[in-house]
Amino acid sequence: MSCGSHATSSAFSVLVRRRWGALPSHLLRPGRWRSRGPCVLRKSDHAAHPLWKDPASLPGGTRQSPINIRWRDSVYDPRLQPLRVSYDAAACLHAWNTGYLFQVELDDSSDRSGISGGPLENHYRLRQFHFHWGAANEWGSEHTVDEHVYPAELHLVHWNAVKYRDYQEAATGERGLAVIGVFLKLGARHEALQELLEVLPDIKHKDARVPVRPFQPSCLLPACRDYWTYPGSLTTPPLSESVTWIIYKKPIEVAQDQLAAFRSLLFSALGEKEEAMVNNYRPLQPLMDREVRSSFQAPEDGPGP
Ligand SMILES: [Zn+2]
Repeated sequence: MSCGSHATSSAFSVLVRRRWGALPSHLLRPGRWRSRGPCVLRKSDHAAHPLWKDPASLPGGTRQSPINIRWRDSVYDPRLQPLRVSYDAAACLHAWNTGYLFQVELDDSSDRSGISGGPLENHYRLRQFHFHWGAANEWGSEHTVDEHVYPAELHLVHWNAVKYRDYQEAATGERGLAVIGVFLKLGARHEALQELLEVLPDIKHKDARVPVRPFQPSCLLPACRDYWTYPGSLTTPPLSESVTWIIYKKPIEVAQDQLAAFRSLLFSALGEKEEAMVNNYRPLQPLMDREVRSSFQAPEDGPGP
């Protein structure tokens, strides 16, 4: 434990452990106030979720995720090539309510779906993609940009199929994983995302899983492919520090009812007391001795996100 935010969330999780199920939701608000722009409270009652009850889920690592990306502190690296993305729509297998988030799993038995180039030395296969979101539009993303919080964030999780035999081995290995992060902002309706959202009523409860029709994940990427990259970790236990993060600068737009569809899912299983699946993001972690590199040159004035 080397930082104050760890201590705070640890103390909070003890509180929640004692009060789980009895604490009114308006009291579950230990999130940080933002000092810039409109004050935004990130409602961090994620600690109440059983996923975070194991003490091992609060490690004192040196390269944890997510982080706040400070635009002006990121370093343009002209050696960073464009990321090459090639996904096979037919590789999508299932949509799954994991009890913490909503995830689509892919067939990763071959190299047909994956990424290379950019900051990566090898080809990485797409294993799954999932989303994190808030209870309201003012919070929900895991990463932030100049302390700006988006309502949701998409993660496409890839593993290094050159160095490792399978996802499990890669997940704890050096340069094992590469995760693309895409911010979702409120705006126009996203037609491709809507295809996925149609299955959500079928996976409302924890552990529900349904087959999905072929879906092209690259439809969820922004048109502008500028990105930041930094070395980090998984943002759910086991929080392995094996991830090369690639965060696209530009968000994609989604409509209000599409965010509402995420929030209609449940943390709870069939027959349990209903708990809305919201605020399934991890709090920000300290940057420590890390550099965030950008594939693009920051304009003088720094337009912000
Ligand atoms: Zn994630």
